[in-house]
Amino acid sequence: MVQYSKTDPRNYTEKDTAALKQQFDLINLFYNEMEAPTLKPTKEVDHLRSARIRFQVVEIRFHQDERLWDRIGLHPAENRQLPAAIDSISSGRKEIWIAGNHMYRIGNKKAQFRREGMQHLDMQFDTAFFHREKKMTKIIFRESVPVEYAQGKITFYMEEDKNCHDDLFHNLAQSDSSYLHVFYTGASARKMAFGCGPSPYYLNVSNYTNGGEWANAQLSAHELGHCVGLSHTDFPQFDDLPKKDKFGFIDCDSIEVSNNIMGYNKCRRYLSPKQIAWVHQEYSLKPYRIRTTAYCTYNPQYTWTIRKNTTWNRAMVIGGDLVIRKGKTLTVNCMVSLPEGAHIILEEGAKLILNGNVITNNCGGTWNGVLYCRKFSGDKSRLKPVKKKKGNVQLQNGGRFERMQQQN
Ligand SMILES: [Zn+2]
Repeated sequence: MVQYSKTDPRNYTEKDTAALKQQFDLINLFYNEMEAPTLKPTKEVDHLRSARIRFQVVEIRFHQDERLWDRIGLHPAENRQLPAAIDSISSGRKEIWIAGNHMYRIGNKKAQFRREGMQHLDMQFDTAFFHREKKMTKIIFRESVPVEYAQGKITFYMEEDKNCHDDLFHNLAQSDSSYLHVFYTGASARKMAFGCGPSPYYLNVSNYTNGGEWANAQLSAHELGHCVGLSHTDFPQFDDLPKKDKFGFIDCDSIEVSNNIMGYNKCRRYLSPKQIAWVHQEYSLKPYRIRTTAYCTYNPQYTWTIRKNTTWNRAMVIGGDLVIRKGKTLTVNCMVSLPEGAHIILEEGAKLILNGNVITNNCGGTWNGVLYCRKFSGDKSRLKPVKKKKGNVQLQNGGRFERMQQQN
């Protein structure tokens, strides 16, 4: 949470902690209690009720920084010629001549006038056109400028848009890529709530105190969709999406506006099976994504137990230990990730066949290795290790353990 200042937060405060958590309850509702698609794709597609994608709030921190708070604001153009004296204002009062040659990018500037002898900056006007002639510049405005400004000076303000910038991630999160950081900020330009999710590690959202809770959760759900690897639905990312989707924060319908979380509609409540599958694949295979999941913190509740002979053909990310029960065989044909602190525990006669792939730690650390025991009670501190028997672990076709701690 980036506040403008302690006394003037212009953002959520400590009092809003419960409301912020509720925002994530809503986001998780959109992802896990999905509705049927309003706009049907050309082919028949299953409707999954839950995306099985859940965002977990770990911690809320508060910062005060005026500069970082301001995501879209007007900042004075840096130029030695400014503020410039006004030479004349034309009859229509939309044209002003000033001394010197000035040129700024069209569409990204505002002019601000200051009357002689007054310290504070006065009115702002949108400039439309700059024309240089000899040592003078003519500026054409979109609206009439009051004639009394003719005696004053003018300066220019550039609109700076930091909606998608990485400065908050670097400055406030020290570029920590173990979490998806959500930065709540503001803007000095008058704007409704807005956001940008350009990275798996951060999401910037702004002006949330201007919007309703439901609308904010809808916006966050969409931006988080970008963070986890999804694109807009105006051009379909996958073939189970409609060919077109009209954008514009409009009500969804069955003709041209979807209710997809990745569309620009007012009823974001749907993801297609392939959108969901894409996210799950990304978070099973890509270490740079896996490291942000809850499964990178060892938790015995996430222990995976093999109770019958099993073959894994798709990548697995496990957040606890992997236990193979007495006499059972687990055949692994895919990548498996275990967190720091996790073991593979083999009971008597249990077998692990690792076929042409890797068991590793995709969270950036190591995992703790293989333990052998007669029977595992569920409590590792009481486990009585026994010696490895031949054939307990079979590494085939280049199958290997990586990022495993040295074992005694
Ligand atoms: Zn978007």
